[in-house]
Amino acid sequence: MATEKQAKFISNLLRQLGYSTQKLHDYAYERIMSGASVESASYDIEKLLSDLELLRSKRRKIKFSEYYTPTGLAEYAFCPVSYSIKASYYIPESIEEEAGLKHHEEFNLEKFLKNLFIKRKREWTSNEERLSDAEKDRIYKGPYGDLLSSKIIYRGHQSDKNTAFYSEKGKLVGKPDFIFIRSNGSKFVLEEKHTWQPVIEKPWFSNMIQVLAYIYGLKHESDEFDKGYLLYFSWHNENRRLKTRNARLFIVEKNHKNYNSLKMIFDKVKELRNKQSISFDVSSLKLAKCIRCSSRLFCRHKTGELKILKYPYYL
Ligand code: SF4
Repeated sequence: MATEKQAKFISNLLRQLGYSTQKLHDYAYERIMSGASVESASYDIEKLLSDLELLRSKRRKIKFSEYYTPTGLAEYAFCPVSYSIKASYYIPESIEEEAGLKHHEEFNLEKFLKNLFIKRKREWTSNEERLSDAEKDRIYKGPYGDLLSSKIIYRGHQSDKNTAFYSEKGKLVGKPDFIFIRSNGSKFVLEEKHTWQPVIEKPWFSNMIQVLAYIYGLKHESDEFDKGYLLYFSWHNENRRLKTRNARLFIVEKNHKNYNSLKMIFDKVKELRNKQSISFDVSSLKLAKCIRCSSRLFCRHKTGELKILKYPYYL
C-alpha cells in the first residue's frame, strides 16, 4: 500500500496540474491510488512531476497553419478544446503515444494482408496453384476481399517524404495512411489505427471524420475515392513485446449522413477559427475521456468551469 506521505504528495501534484475541482481531483486520485503499492505510487509521482515540468516549459506555436487537415477535423470531433490546444501549443508525446507511433510505423499491413490471403486460401480452396473463379470469389469475399484483391499505391504514414494531397480549393491538406487501387482503376483509402482497447466494436466518430475528410476532400491523380476503410488493431504485451490482435475492419461509406457529419464538423472548425471564441458545452465533458486525453495536461476546460473556448488557446 502507498504511504500517507505519497498519498498527500500525489494529491498535491494533481491540484498543481489543474485537477482543481473536487470531483476531477478525486476521480484522478482514485485512478492512481486504487490498489497502489509503494513502488507504483513512486512511479506515478515521477510521472506527475515530469508532467508538471512539461506544463511549466510549455511552448506556444507562433505560426498557425492556414490549412485544414483531416487529423485536425478528427481532433475537433473528439473535443473542440483539444483542437484549439493542439493548434496553439507543441504537445509532447506521452510514452504511450511514442510507443504507439513507433508501432504504427513498424506494423506491416502488406504482411498482415498476405497472411490473411494465405489463411483464406488454405481454408477455402483446394490449394491448387491456379485458383478457379469460384475460389477467387470466396477468397475475395466481403470488405477484406476488397483489400486483398486491390493494390497499395500510396503509403502516407511511413515517411515524411510522401507527398501530401491538397483539396481542389487548396484549403484541406492531408496524407491518408494507404491508397488502394482495384483492377478496374477505382480507388479507396484505408486508415490504420492501433489502440489499447481490447476490441473495437464500433468505429470512433473522430476517426470516421478523418476518413470522410480524405474521401470527400482529396483526390489521387484526379481520381476520387469511392469509399474508405478503418482498420483497428488492439495492442497487448506478450513477453514484454507489443503485439497486435483483434483486427476489426469498418467501411466508411460516401452517403448523405456521413457527408452531413463531415460538413457539420468542418463548419464548426471554421466558426472557431473565424470567430476565435465560441461557447463550450460543459455537459459534453466526461471524466473518463478527459483522464485519457492527450491534451489533458494543457487543458483548463477539464474542470467544467469554463464555458467559452478561445482559439488560439491560452493557458
Ligand atoms: S481534457 Fe477533456 S476537455 Fe480537455 S481537451 Fe481533453 S477531452 Fe477535451
